[in-house]
Amino acid sequence: MKTAVYPGSFDPVTFGHMDIIRRAAAMFDHLVVTVMNNSSKSPLFSVDERVKILQEVTKDLDNVEIDFYDGLLIDYCKEKKIHIAIRGLRAITDFEYELQIAQTNKELSHDSVDTVFLTTNLRYSYLSSSTVKEVAGYRGDVSECVPDFVQKLLYQKFGFEPERVKGENR
Ligand code: ADP
Repeated sequence: MKTAVYPGSFDPVTFGHMDIIRRAAAMFDHLVVTVMNNSSKSPLFSVDERVKILQEVTKDLDNVEIDFYDGLLIDYCKEKKIHIAIRGLRAITDFEYELQIAQTNKELSHDSVDTVFLTTNLRYSYLSSSTVKEVAGYRGDVSECVPDFVQKLLYQKFGFEPERVKGENR
């Protein structure tokens, strides 16, 4: 059985991530989407919240499992006996960062972990969790970027009333 892991912060998951999840799930027998701690980012949603959101958006995908891990991806892969990591590439700006991580993981795992890159769907190439949070933080409409229930959760996090915001934006 071919299993792959799609690691990320998913803070929160966007339509861009969901597109990668769907496509990777079609390529592998089993896909584990793992919420990781990114030491250079301070998350808005707790790991538990991010896991729950991911479970909700993947509930129709039978071969997708949601997990979390606090540590190095290569250690996670070793524990779970996974040899393929999925990453999404949006633009050339992602490339250098992603290439460095992929090569580091390959080296540190003694060639046990390879990274498979999926290029973003052009519709979502502009999307990032950071910009979604930025826009939602000013009560902006992010319904084109995340599912409705995630937009509501974002507004709650920023202390806005969902109903009021909807009315104001139209
Ligand atoms: P990380 O903190 O690991 O960068 P993210 O949650 O920001 O976590 O991203 C996880 C992965 O999803 C990364 O490979 C990133 O390039 C990819 N990704 C993020 N946004 C998109 C998008 N809009 N389309 C495709 N891939 C994306």
